[in-house]
Amino acid sequence: MHPTCLLKYLGQALASAGLTDASGEPLTMQPHDFRRIFITDAVMNGMPPHIAQLVAGHRVIDTTMGYLAVYPREVIEAHRAFIARRRVTRPGEEYRTPTDEEWDSFLGHFERRKLSIGTCDRAFSTPCTHEHACLRCAMLRPDPAERPRLVEIRDNLIDRIAEAKREGWLGEVEGLETSLAGAEDKLAQMDAATARTATAVDLGMPGFTQIAGRASDT
Ligand code: SF4
Repeated sequence: MHPTCLLKYLGQALASAGLTDASGEPLTMQPHDFRRIFITDAVMNGMPPHIAQLVAGHRVIDTTMGYLAVYPREVIEAHRAFIARRRVTRPGEEYRTPTDEEWDSFLGHFERRKLSIGTCDRAFSTPCTHEHACLRCAMLRPDPAERPRLVEIRDNLIDRIAEAKREGWLGEVEGLETSLAGAEDKLAQMDAATARTATAVDLGMPGFTQIAGRASDT
């Protein structure tokens, strides 16, 4: 929708609502005012200002604070005081600048999480506690692009189970069957992820409903 068109409809809505400003003049609004209203509502309802800053896409919190015309300074001051109080209760060590080695280790963690059929989602600085049995592990986020590789692994497991049964290696059958169940589960996760991204969701057009005697967005 063109901004001019939006402005026209906004003017018509305000005129028909009969709203006036503090001096009694007909109220005028710009589409940008909705950003102020949204941020104001969010902060007044408990969203921390630094999160509101990220939501609004402001590079510095001073821009978010520029909305002071519409929300009270005490909201920001109260949140800053909360952050300051919280910091004094935490060890100072948590707020120091990381060393180069720590930073490299942090970045390295994300590189080392890449696996042949997806990504390991375990938390930073935690070891693998599942002996790298990734197929059976809930921490593995399978990558749909690696489906052919996983199908190959699944088919190989089926062959190995048949071979183990044929040769009488019954001790191996149970473990291989657990891995096979894991492979089938990861394949299902991949297919579900593909189906989600391939499905367009029609959200329809916004409308208005009357709730408790006043109009509200739906
Ligand atoms: S077994 Fe799980 S935790 Fe360990 S590397 Fe594989 S996905 Fe990560």
